[in-house]
Amino acid sequence: MSDLSGKSAIVTGASSGIGEATARRLAAEGAGIALAARRTDRLEDLQAEIEADGGEAIVVATDVTDREQVQALADATLAAFGSIDILINNAGVMPLSFIKNLHEDEWEQMVDVNVKGVLHCVGAVLPTMLEQESGHIVNVSSTAGRRLFPGGAVYCGTKHFVRALSEGMRKELAPHHNIRVTSIQPGAVDTELTNTITDEEVIEMFEERHSGIEPLESDDIAESILYVVTAPDRVDVEELMVLPSDQR
Ligand code: NDP
Repeated sequence: MSDLSGKSAIVTGASSGIGEATARRLAAEGAGIALAARRTDRLEDLQAEIEADGGEAIVVATDVTDREQVQALADATLAAFGSIDILINNAGVMPLSFIKNLHEDEWEQMVDVNVKGVLHCVGAVLPTMLEQESGHIVNVSSTAGRRLFPGGAVYCGTKHFVRALSEGMRKELAPHHNIRVTSIQPGAVDTELTNTITDEEVIEMFEERHSGIEPLESDDIAESILYVVTAPDRVDVEELMVLPSDQR
């Protein structure tokens, strides 16, 4: 395993949860990090923490649903670090709801962030990675990218998309362009992700479904991502599903 000195990584959704933990972990291994999200106050706190520990980070206010802002994120990363070696395509939302309750605005939000946002990030970094003839894109899918559950039809659809996109990208990019692509599929992780659920019936169901399960910590996923991006060049982890031990 090599460390990440001299490399740069963009982490979207770095203001909380998995993204925050991953940014912190990759910075500790020596990567220069571009911290991206909308809540810049949180990103600035994380930047200060990373710098106090001897690391390097920039803050780029980014709404991933806005293609121009995402392009500006890629441009700022290249300007600051001279390369874009790793993209952690992590920003996502999960306002679960039962289809019959017609939360159409939330369906749209999930498609905008989890599908289009992911594509915007891919589109913004790929020209640089193709020119470099190297790079690693880690798309954060979910167990919801492999399994369906009531209340999750749209969310699971977006995460199935992320998984399919990753597999398709890997087939084209890894053998011909030395760009590795990985889909990470976490099970339940203790983050702020469920805070945006507004469907009361789903909130009730979710509490029951997850009672008795000790969720993963964000650091557990950060550690998995570190393994993937520090594996030797000949190793491309196509998919990695990481579950709490007692989650079925
Ligand atoms: P959090 O809610 O803690 O983090 C979500 C992050 O996404 C925040 O940093 C938020 O930042 C960012 N985000 C949301 N919308 C946008 C946007 N429009 N533009 C830019 N950033 C945005 O949840 P997690 O850490 O759990 O989620 C991270 C990823 O992990 C998601 O893709 C999620 O689907 C996936 N996942 C999570 C699991 C879990 O159990 N927690 C399980 C499997 C997958 P801000 O609001 O500041 O913009």
